[in-house]
Amino acid sequence: MDNCIFCKIAAKQIPAQVVFEDEDVLAFKDINPAAPVHLLVIPKQHIDTLSDTTDEHTALLGKMLALAPKLAREHGVAVTKGADGKPGGGYKTLINSGPNGGQEVYHLHLHMYGGPRPWRGLG
Ligand code: ADP
Repeated sequence: MDNCIFCKIAAKQIPAQVVFEDEDVLAFKDINPAAPVHLLVIPKQHIDTLSDTTDEHTALLGKMLALAPKLAREHGVAVTKGADGKPGGGYKTLINSGPNGGQEVYHLHLHMYGGPRPWRGLG
């Protein structure tokens, strides 16, 4: 879509630090990270918001979400289990939808935040 910054990143018209790519999705580092690891996963096709998806996007949405634990392992923020059996590490996945959801860029994207806390502005 014309004038969409994430479409331009997907089309390699503007640079980004890409960490994963296949025919459907792209993952790259957020330009203004709110956590030590802050990645964005986008569909290559333009979709404004999560609310614009239909049943035909179910596999695409599944692929985006399923990428998060793989990226977490690659970036050292996977959920771990200590000798005492307690979980450690971990990350947050988030999709902001629409103005009340805090969405700023109107190309569907999944945030992935991880690494030692505190994180900026995140619960
Ligand atoms: P919010 O800024 O409230 O998190 P969004 O959910 O729409 O709103 O997130 C947009 C994200 O895109 C922001 O985290 C922002 O830093 C990031 N961003 C904007 N432009 C770029 C870019 N050119 N490359 C990488 N990340 C970008």
